[in-house]
Formats: sequence, C-alpha cells, structure tokens
Amino acid sequence: MCYILYTLHVCQHWIPQPQPGNGPILRICKDAEVMRLGRPCPETEHRVANRSQGMCEKCLWNNVSK
Ligand SMILES: [Zn+2]
Ligand SMILES: [Zn+2]
Repeated sequence: MCYILYTLHVCQHWIPQPQPGNGPILRICKDAEVMRLGRPCPETEHRVANRSQGMCEKCLWNNVSK
C-alpha cells in the first residue's frame, strides 16, 4: 500500500514530511510501481517515520504568540 510519511511531534501532531524537490508527498510502494505502473494504490497508509523531540511548527508559533 502506498504511504505518506509523518513526523510525530511531542504535541501529538502528525506532520507530513517534506519531499525534496517539491515532489508528491505520497510514496509509491513496490506493488504500485510494478503492478500498477507507478499509479498509487486507492488506499493510503499513514506512517510515522520518526519522532521529533520538539513541537510542530504550528504549536511553536502558538507558544511564541502567547
Ligand atoms: Zn501502494
Ligand atoms: Zn503541534
């Protein structure tokens, strides 16, 4: 299943990871690549790729403006 990678921040927000070169955020899985000629699967999996020790940008800004 194709997937989108997220960073899980300490504020419990899932932030999609930016893709270098402004490409699509959706990652094509091997199955889609081979069986569907590079077209993504109809369903998308949401995966935590890594955990951040900090808050997401939005929460950081909220903290600053308080
Ligand atoms: Zn897939
Ligand atoms: Zn947050």
